[in-house]
Amino acid sequence: MSILPDISILNIEILNKKYLPLSPEERIREVYKDFNRILFTSSFGTTSIYLLHLFHQIQPEGNIYFLNTTYHFPETISYKDFLTKEWNLKVIDVVPDKKKNIWTRKHHTWLNDPDRCCSINKVEPLDQLKENFDVWMTGLMSYQSQHRAQANIFEYKKDTIKFNPIIDQNEATVKQYIIDNQLPKHPLYDKGFHSVGCQQCTVAGNGRTGRWGNLSKEECGLHI
Ligand code: SF4
Repeated sequence: MSILPDISILNIEILNKKYLPLSPEERIREVYKDFNRILFTSSFGTTSIYLLHLFHQIQPEGNIYFLNTTYHFPETISYKDFLTKEWNLKVIDVVPDKKKNIWTRKHHTWLNDPDRCCSINKVEPLDQLKENFDVWMTGLMSYQSQHRAQANIFEYKKDTIKFNPIIDQNEATVKQYIIDNQLPKHPLYDKGFHSVGCQQCTVAGNGRTGRWGNLSKEECGLHI
């Protein structure tokens, strides 16, 4: 049963105090005791494998939602398909409104209005999905960007409780975990892509520098 009969900042503070001393694995185990309806999304990007593996150990039957913008690299889709088969994952594609998605394709909105493009292809489909859940579990890590550095384990944003169980893990820890568990890497990682999103908006680069090129945009809007 949920420990949040009503949502308030105080509840979020209580949750953060409770979860802070726990390891990422313990946090994930605990959240399934504290809440009933938990939404887990994965981008199947270059760092996704860490949380995917933790989740799979704890909730092997759990659904994993993938926001399929229709603009992903073929390598991301093949990575997702490979892991789905290898680990017997239950991955559910979440797709944008078809007419709006076609409109973005026709107008190349990633070039002239990327915020709108992300809104149509990522934010709106996720917002609809979130209505069916109490908590949204994400793979955000604070080292990834200035914006993410301000996030906490639990946050309350846009009428949503966000749960970031690996927020305080650093890059070295993640890399070591991947090595220790011999986890497969995203096919583009060794080609210099350290963060992978849509094909139209991603180039090779360290950290998240390859996302949205020279635009000031750093986030797709899901986490703002
Ligand atoms: S990342 Fe680029 S292509 Fe993908 S939804 Fe956003 S603007 Fe569109």
